[in-house]
Amino acid sequence: MSSATLINPATEEVLRTVDLLDVDAVDDAVARAKAAQKRWAALAPAERAAGLRAFAAIVDSHVGELAALEVANSGHPIGNAEWEAGHVRDVLQYYAASPERLIGKQIPVAGGLDVTFHEPLGVVGVITPWNFPMTIAAWGFAPALAAGNAVVLKPAEWTPLTSVRLAALAAEAGLDPDLFQVLPGRGSVVGERFVTHPDVRKVVFTGSTAVGTRVMAGAAARVKRVTLELGGKSANIVFDDCDLERAAATAPYGVFDNAGQDCCARSRILVQRTVYDRFMELLEPAVRGVVVGDPNDRGTEMGPLVAKPHWESVRSFVPDDAPVAFRGTAPGGPGFWFPPTVLTPQRSDRTVTEEIFGPVVTVLPFDDEADAIALANDTPYGLSGSIWTENLSRAVRVSRAVEAGNLSVNSHSSVRYTTPFGGFKQSGLGRELGPDAPEHFTETKNVFFQIGES
Ligand code: NAD
Repeated sequence: MSSATLINPATEEVLRTVDLLDVDAVDDAVARAKAAQKRWAALAPAERAAGLRAFAAIVDSHVGELAALEVANSGHPIGNAEWEAGHVRDVLQYYAASPERLIGKQIPVAGGLDVTFHEPLGVVGVITPWNFPMTIAAWGFAPALAAGNAVVLKPAEWTPLTSVRLAALAAEAGLDPDLFQVLPGRGSVVGERFVTHPDVRKVVFTGSTAVGTRVMAGAAARVKRVTLELGGKSANIVFDDCDLERAAATAPYGVFDNAGQDCCARSRILVQRTVYDRFMELLEPAVRGVVVGDPNDRGTEMGPLVAKPHWESVRSFVPDDAPVAFRGTAPGGPGFWFPPTVLTPQRSDRTVTEEIFGPVVTVLPFDDEADAIALANDTPYGLSGSIWTENLSRAVRVSRAVEAGNLSVNSHSSVRYTTPFGGFKQSGLGRELGPDAPEHFTETKNVFFQIGES
């Protein structure tokens, strides 16, 4: 068995090592999950609901511990990390209502009674990225468990600690330890095995479009169900009739939250040419005002990048001759720090077309509504975006025209666990969260009961 060494991204100190599982260990875990799923599905719906509520309650009483782990492992600011742990609790609590509400249909037919059942799939594999380890894990495991499935979860190599702890908490809360198992390991080993294992009936993958494409191809060979949450290059469209002060003041937080390591980051700011100069004047102090520093400090708004290789990747987008408009600050010394950076490149530049996944934003002028929509849609991605305007008709027109799964008008909100989340085009396939998520972890079974003559 190999192991990985985890590094605190804010200090570059070694945190600990984690064992990486091999294929035999995955196969053993899936076999145990398969048996546990049968026991779980046989429980009364109210018992499964109670199990999930107990899981939510134990997460609630460990929010501080989970948040501290995320600060150390991922460099998230403490306030963000606490929100993330609380979000896991809320997602569990929300889906704890589902076992008793997975209601089928009774369909009128001749000669009998016709009903549908939402049958669990069996074992579900969840593969998560490193940017939001806890929250993205919960979006997969909570509705999957609620629908009567067992879950095996592979966290990203750099950030497994909170997921490992969540599985232990589930067991402490009384869930069968084989029902929800976290299996640290390499994507090419554990992740691939989820795709090829015949008893893993669905793979929920969140990560890059490149790996997601590979997961989908592997799943296709087995007609395996997939949900894919992939990359993004979202637009923040600022029209000249908006509250420009508010648009400029909030724009940094629409992209630099989590140091820009956010699939929903509004990494392309598109500004109507008539207000472009004024917007840039307002944006500069807002960017310089982003507080970048020690993630344990409650005043910190942005921490470091997650790891050195990722820092190098982000750095490659800002060479010495990059068209930098202005930058914020970042600490010196150890840690993978990168200051918030605003670029004003040409429309065809790779900083405009490629996902950077760091605190780097491009600002481009546009001429009119049609130009804004064309520019916003000129990307293979379609995850998120914002529209700033005081004109209601324009807000409706543009939000219908932008090809993205999650839009926000006069704000930068993306994720509410009560509403569906997912991408258009190469940003993904399927939707997570919202009231329908548990059904995405079921097969619909139709049963006709013939009624005999009396
Ligand atoms: P990644 O694709 O490198 O890795 C994601 C996960 O897949 C990791 O756990 C990794 O180990 C695993 N993996 C790698 N190779 C695999 C394989 N061959 N088979 C199966 N699994 C494999 O992505 P990342 O760098 O961890 O995350 C950043 C990416 O995730 C960005 O593109 C970002 O936009 C995307 N993302 C999307 C969403 C969303 O909801 N749409 C949310 C967060 C992140």
